[in-house]
Amino acid sequence: MRRKLAAGNWKMNGTQASLAELAAMQTAVTDAVDVLICPPATLVATAAAQSGDIAIGGQDCHANVSGAHTGDISADMLKDAGAGYVLTGHSERRTDHSESDADVAAKSKAVWDAGLIAVVCIGETLEERESGETLRVIGRQLAESIPDGASAANTVVAYEPVWAIGTGKVPTPELIAEVHDFMRAELTKRFGAEIANGTRLLYGGSVKASNAVEIFATSNVDGALVGGASLKAADFNPIIEAL
Ligand code: 13P
Repeated sequence: MRRKLAAGNWKMNGTQASLAELAAMQTAVTDAVDVLICPPATLVATAAAQSGDIAIGGQDCHANVSGAHTGDISADMLKDAGAGYVLTGHSERRTDHSESDADVAAKSKAVWDAGLIAVVCIGETLEERESGETLRVIGRQLAESIPDGASAANTVVAYEPVWAIGTGKVPTPELIAEVHDFMRAELTKRFGAEIANGTRLLYGGSVKASNAVEIFATSNVDGALVGGASLKAADFNPIIEAL
């Protein structure tokens, strides 16, 4: 049985004052679900020290363990700060920092090597969807962003259509199911049924309390990666509860 996961990505939002929201989110956590918040790097250590049953994650890491990489943070450092997960390959990283699938694979490997769980993010652009390329793009990103050695314990995959992020546009349950069923099948081909069936597949992109129940009822959806609606407990707690 795959444990459901409600994950929040705070992106470049949040200061010490935001930790009050994290405290308020603890009231929604139950034994039945995993909850993860990925605050900005400046808050990882303080958040991890007071997050209770909520896991804390980084939003990115460097592929190397240490060295002359000004401004970067390694997976080992995130682990040292108390993180249990790291997002890799978020579309905003792919766009803003020109990260390739190979970069994402190297970062994911670094996350595993630090003993953390990689949440590998993939998703098509609007142009790719409109030209009928969605499954081809998802197949390529899955193949090339996840290194050999993935297991159900070290990897979560997040499907985030780029056109659904922060836009209020959400694919129909049929379209989400098409991609999630495809991802499960591709993982099965590559890693075998046991690993594929144990790996959590999250949907991300404009998830809100009002659409969470329908999204969570969709085939092969094991939770969500939530942006804007994860910043406030009043918005995120109903999403946790919908799982
Ligand atoms: P929104 O929930 O704000 O659309 O963001 C989704 C996302 O990018 C989470 O990583």
